[in-house]
Amino acid sequence: MAKRDYYEILGVSQSASQDEIKKAYRKVAIKYHPDKNPGDAQAEENFKEAAEAYEVLSDQEKRQRYDRFGHQGMNGGGFGGGGMNVDDIFSQFGDIFGGGGGNPFESFFGGGGGGRRRQRKGSNLRIKLKLTLQEIAEGVEKKIKVNRLTQADGVTFKTCSTCQGTGQVRKAVNTMLGQMVSTSTCPTCNGSGQILDHRPPGVDSSGLVSKEEIIPIKIPAGVSEGMQLSMSGKGNESPGGGPAGDLLILIEETESEHLVREGNNVVYDLYVSFIDAALGTSVEVPSISGKLRIKIEPGTQSGKILRLRGKGIKDINGYETGDQLVHVNVWTPKTLSTEEKDKLESMRHSSNFAPKPGKSDKGFFERMKEFF
Ligand SMILES: [Zn+2]
Repeated sequence: MAKRDYYEILGVSQSASQDEIKKAYRKVAIKYHPDKNPGDAQAEENFKEAAEAYEVLSDQEKRQRYDRFGHQGMNGGGFGGGGMNVDDIFSQFGDIFGGGGGNPFESFFGGGGGGRRRQRKGSNLRIKLKLTLQEIAEGVEKKIKVNRLTQADGVTFKTCSTCQGTGQVRKAVNTMLGQMVSTSTCPTCNGSGQILDHRPPGVDSSGLVSKEEIIPIKIPAGVSEGMQLSMSGKGNESPGGGPAGDLLILIEETESEHLVREGNNVVYDLYVSFIDAALGTSVEVPSISGKLRIKIEPGTQSGKILRLRGKGIKDINGYETGDQLVHVNVWTPKTLSTEEKDKLESMRHSSNFAPKPGKSDKGFFERMKEFF
């Protein structure tokens, strides 16, 4: 099950440019292409592996996610590792081999026996999912309602007459080097080789119908705003019987009333009176998992940060859990009664009230450095 490193598969370094990745993929793809290695299962495996690596590394966002989280980031704990099939992979060749819309790959190998019918992959579905800090901290299972395009009952197909079912049309083009045959996707059937024969009401022109579906998904702990998870095969179905698209889930964080997330830590601003700070007390603070009682030691300075270990967010890789940091602010009263003023006035010149910051009373920036 151990998956090989995508950079290793393509034989490029982690700092490789998009151009280098493209070139490397082209080399590997040509070497292991099934038409060149008929019946060689290992070659087909290598071919698929390279296509998967290219799919990730050629996409800025996916590559960044892979660099940060490795294979686990791609499958986000519980998400089906999207294996690609060979037909899938052909959709990549358009941009790899250039050539406006055609499939030069086929002509490259001489094409021969009628060509490979391209099965289109269904389109991806995108949804946004709002999660609370608590759901993010612990991971959560959600049931999501989506409208998927699925293959309708009662639909029948017939072979496309434009391309005789091959999904492709050939055109002879005269060039400086002589006549060349270019192949392009059939415009009538969009490459599936089939067109609708019987179309029941409510069904679109590709034989699909929109259906509401409830999809259970497991969100791993530690996701963050802007992260995208994908569930392979849970997007729209393909009109021509190809693989279904993916369901892409964009994570959004609901802002918490009290807690602010800083990486895997959560920060809470606590206000105490200067009497509580001087005499010590115990107070309740909100946390991700409900209220917690914490002790304020006598003589606590304003700006002190208390660390509640393990009360933060579990890391996406599951190795460690963040902390809750309680930032203590001492509240100075803004209005005082005459009696209160008199009491405080009588203590004004007591040496205990004179500030004497020691080495342990670091400034705010020094303390923040320690924590982040
Ligand atoms: Zn056709």
